[in-house]
Amino acid sequence: MGRSRRQRLGQNFLVDRGVVRRIAALLDHEPPRVLEIGPGRGVLTVELLERFPRVLALELDEGLLAGLEELEGRGLEIHHADALTEPLEPLLGEEAPWQVAANLPYSVGTPILRRLLPRHDLFRRVVVMLQREVAERVVARPGERAHGLLALERAAWTRDARIAFSVPPGAFRPRPRVVSSVIVLEPAPPAFDRERLEAAFRLARHALTRPRKTLANALKPLVDAGAIEDAGLDPGARPATVPLEGWVALAGVGP
Ligand code: SAM
Repeated sequence: MGRSRRQRLGQNFLVDRGVVRRIAALLDHEPPRVLEIGPGRGVLTVELLERFPRVLALELDEGLLAGLEELEGRGLEIHHADALTEPLEPLLGEEAPWQVAANLPYSVGTPILRRLLPRHDLFRRVVVMLQREVAERVVARPGERAHGLLALERAAWTRDARIAFSVPPGAFRPRPRVVSSVIVLEPAPPAFDRERLEAAFRLARHALTRPRKTLANALKPLVDAGAIEDAGLDPGARPATVPLEGWVALAGVGP
């Protein structure tokens, strides 16, 4: 396969078995069903099959399917599918909940994670490897350098999130240019209704693209300083310091 196609598919395969075992060990014993995204050559898949009776995998690269089919007799169900678009409900709904394990392709790691996050109905625990900078943006707390929209979405849809460990480029072939990190997420029903959350994210997205401005300036002309105070927030604060609850309060005060 050409280098550019391999890159587009984010094909950096894990070759360090110790890392593979550490990823699998972050899963819970229950539920005993795991969705793997991008099994590639199956190194993590084999480890998962040793621990769980049921593994369902979505792989986009047709050229890798033949190798994976050998694992079907051991409990693997493999689907040639795009994890960005494949409808999850028909595949997973009946047996839900599941856990997720993946060494996500860098190219589409964030949009895939964004698809999984709100599905607390399908997923109990999500263990995924991402580029370290992206992992930091997922788990960041208000006021931290990496805190932004992705962290707010994570805060809305999960009860717990942490970076478990980081992985150097030498653990993969070919070697990526960046360090990777494994994160553990526990999806949970959000404390706020969906419409209110969407409105909060709209405000946050607008303000966070103007990170150096004060909240009052960053939100002009959507919200005035009085409304920001009514929401219990400081109009002079920087947008990245505002927690999810603050954006939700602001969305409630209205423009
Ligand atoms: N799990 C293997 C490992 O750890 O060695 C492979 C991980 S590799 C970083 C990412 C895998 O995701 C590749 O096998 C790639 O073909 C697959 N992939 C890329 N984009 C995908 C998508 N949208 N849906 C499903 N699989 C995808």
